[in-house]
Amino acid sequence: MNEFELIRKYFERPAKGALVGVGDDCALVRPNAGLELAMTTDTLVEGRHFAAGAEARSLGHKALAVNLSDLAAMGAAPRWALLSLALPSADEAWLAAFSGGFFALAERHGIELVGGDTVRSPLLTIGITAIGEVPAGVTMYRGSARPGDDVWVSGELGGAALALKHPEVAEAAERLHRPEPRVELGERLRGIARAAIDVSDGFAADLGHILQRSGVCAVVYYEQLPRAAALARFEASVQQACVLGGGDDYELCFTADPERRKEVEALSRELGLRLSLVGSIQKGEPRLHLYGEGGRAIEVPAGFDHFR
Ligand code: ADP
Ligand code: MG
Repeated sequence: MNEFELIRKYFERPAKGALVGVGDDCALVRPNAGLELAMTTDTLVEGRHFAAGAEARSLGHKALAVNLSDLAAMGAAPRWALLSLALPSADEAWLAAFSGGFFALAERHGIELVGGDTVRSPLLTIGITAIGEVPAGVTMYRGSARPGDDVWVSGELGGAALALKHPEVAEAAERLHRPEPRVELGERLRGIARAAIDVSDGFAADLGHILQRSGVCAVVYYEQLPRAAALARFEASVQQACVLGGGDDYELCFTADPERRKEVEALSRELGLRLSLVGSIQKGEPRLHLYGEGGRAIEVPAGFDHFR
């Protein structure tokens, strides 16, 4: 199978939302009038983001999921994706499983693959660029949190990090390998949330980005942070490390005016998704003040950094 047969067989699909999809030098798309384009790219590298021999279907899912999560954090509706694949070989079973995982998630969220690049390389590397649309004026920025805002977190934290330490815990492994991007939540938070970020590097570090960009501090109560059920049978120090410092959960952390509490709670019920109020934004140097039981201060862990 040559490069072009590979692309045609595994990655060329009709793209109704594009003027030109896979097959020409560029994809050609026309954004809807009045909408702004949100663009993001994320790369997964073998040995760094996943182990050699990782299951191909899950990789196809996750590589797209992490990009959809970025779109969700800015309230954008997914539209188009580009896929850059560096493969050690043209393994058809791998390609079928990978593209199966990719397209299953893509179809659920209405994002279409419109182009990419395919090369041979000893190290499996998957780069995806995702483009979405959002109406002007309702995007959530990292920099738009204000003193007095509530701090909210979706779903549960720490499951993915637990799977790195304890791969035998099935529900944690599911969180790590097949994260569910909070696309619908992101879109529904337009006009309700002020600032938002997706939790990819750890709750403390990611909320820290909001604080830095917004020039505010936050007070968060550890006991109010939603934690993955699978963590319950592990000791408190493991729980704390996973909940505060664990990456890869792809939940949304957002801030909103306390006047919007009823709307956030209604949204939680409607989506069947837990949304937890965990603290508040305050005036002050960009720092996270974290308190545990009895008001004792907890040291804030650093997030993941590729170059540290
Ligand atoms: P060019 O040489 O002009 O960059 P390529 O030969 O690399 O084009 O790719 C041919 C077509 O296939 C292009 O439309 C490109 O976007 C698409 N393509 C290549 N690899 C992928 C992939 N992994 N997934 C989706 N589309 C791809
Ligand atoms: Mg060309």
